Amino acid sequence: MQYHPDKNPNNPEAHAKFQEIAAAYEVLVDDQTREMYDQFGLDGLSGGGMGGPGVSPEDLFEHLFGGGGGPSFGFAGFGPGGARRRRRGEDSINPYEVTLEELYVGKTVKMQLEKTVVCNACSGSGGKPGTKPKQCSRCEGEGVIMSTRAVGGATVGFSRITCPQCKGSGKTIREKDRQCKGEKVGKERKRVEINIEAGMPDGHRIVLVGEGDQEPDMAAGDVVFVLQQKEHESFERSGSDLLAHVRITLSEALLGFSRVILTHLDGRGIRFDSRRQGNEKKIYKSGDTVVIKGEGMPVWKKDRRASMSGPVEKGDLFVLFEVEMPTEDWLETVDVQALKALLPPGKPDIPAAVVEEAKFEAGDLSAFGDGDEDAWEDEEDYSADDSTQCRNQ
Ligand SMILES: [Zn+2]
Ligand SMILES: [Zn+2]
Repeated sequence: MQYHPDKNPNNPEAHAKFQEIAAAYEVLVDDQTREMYDQFGLDGLSGGGMGGPGVSPEDLFEHLFGGGGGPSFGFAGFGPGGARRRRRGEDSINPYEVTLEELYVGKTVKMQLEKTVVCNACSGSGGKPGTKPKQCSRCEGEGVIMSTRAVGGATVGFSRITCPQCKGSGKTIREKDRQCKGEKVGKERKRVEINIEAGMPDGHRIVLVGEGDQEPDMAAGDVVFVLQQKEHESFERSGSDLLAHVRITLSEALLGFSRVILTHLDGRGIRFDSRRQGNEKKIYKSGDTVVIKGEGMPVWKKDRRASMSGPVEKGDLFVLFEVEMPTEDWLETVDVQALKALLPPGKPDIPAAVVEEAKFEAGDLSAFGDGDEDAWEDEEDYSADDSTQCRNQ
């Protein structure tokens, strides 16, 4: 299956991870629920009476595809149950990159989906309309045949394999349908929309139920888009809270400031008055943090009706201040003596019986502890010789 604008690469590692989740899912969901899901997708489950009161479609999906966040999957063609007898087609999982701005305001994406559909002329029989298929002569309608396995020239056993003549259907076609040339399926382009709602979490899965590739005699799988939040240059996100680093000058740190300190995700400037409300004499240090309530991400709720009524609830915006010290160039331009008279005085000597004048150079903390070379060599020898042993411990 192909998509515009995104096409996902095949990733064997992600596939393995997914098999793991699928195995866990098998344990979590009882067979009856699973069967309904296989046949009818989510619609089959929301009909009620299924799987007890504790299983909602969303819960089931979390079981199926894992919770929010986590590693990103980049592959198509996962079918729940893997090698089990399939009644439902494969799901297609597609990563979809979104910016923080898009997640803040929400976005509707229109795209062309190219998918395999059951031929409408022959309804997926592959035969000329009006003709009836006949029983497969190779498997006598069973769909499977016995096959012998030979090892080293000797026949060692039998196994059941899918009939290669009828591909397991048990039927063969007398005369091929002209539209699909007997293939039973064709390609179709379909316009679809995915609705990225404001505040959706990173890793959220948007599911187009039943929009997967169609195959005859089988319910189509789903097309799933997994939101991948791109890194933002000004904001970090944690749930519905945002964090921004804001640099202020030494003058602002000492004397206060009132200015637009950042551009929010919807383009609004956020003005900050450091001297507001009993804050008149506060000096800002690097690492000081303020929180602006209600200026975080919109709070997204699974139950859309709840979030649509009333004002949008939002998380908080944390601002972390960092004080920029002036440059040496700036110091050249001022009256240093006057400045010294204004600033708090320096500290006196620490009392000591013997005092030595320090000789120093610029340092680098990554070199801290490097002088102790013998200890490091021993460590390296040890790990090289005993690497297998270490791994087993
Ligand atoms: Zn056809
Ligand atoms: Zn056959």
